[in-house]
Amino acid sequence: MGVGKPALLAPAPLHPPPPPCEQVVSLHESGKRGAALATAIMEHAGSLVSLAGVYHVLKRHEAAAEAYGKSLAVFELVGDEEKAAKCLINLANLQELQLTGDAARADAAASRARLYAARPSGAPDACAACAAPLAPLAPTSGDDDRLLLLGCLHCLHLRCYEAWSEEHDVGCPACKPQPTTPADGRP
Ligand SMILES: [Zn+2]
Ligand SMILES: [Zn+2]
Repeated sequence: MGVGKPALLAPAPLHPPPPPCEQVVSLHESGKRGAALATAIMEHAGSLVSLAGVYHVLKRHEAAAEAYGKSLAVFELVGDEEKAAKCLINLANLQELQLTGDAARADAAASRARLYAARPSGAPDACAACAAPLAPLAPTSGDDDRLLLLGCLHCLHLRCYEAWSEEHDVGCPACKPQPTTPADGRP
């Protein structure tokens, strides 16, 4: 027998793909389920915020506060600070302006303290309208001391806001002329 050309055979793959192992498949499936669950929860929290807004307009303040509180918990859990801050603003304004009783006042003070801790550094500590220093962490003692937080995180006396808003469009005295999210604390 002479030396012939070696037959050209396709090389066998060194690492043939392993058959999918059950654990990998199950991890992949649970990963997909986890992502779908996270999406569903975020959508649910978003719907809760809308529902809270409807309750708010209907002056069902207790129900609105509960819905804001529940959605706040979700946004805090997932670390969505912007959405959490908006819920907290609404909740704090509701607790301070619409709900009554010592418990609501204490809740308002606690919400306000959390908001102030979460504000961007350098945010002013003076009323956005009259520039008087604010003491937002202290529980408010009377109607004159009531504070309103705007969506832009500027804070001002409720009485100052009411006087200002009589002559201006809804917005913020400090941010004007930029349009801002109006305070949802007052439907
Ligand atoms: Zn003021
Ligand atoms: Zn502002």
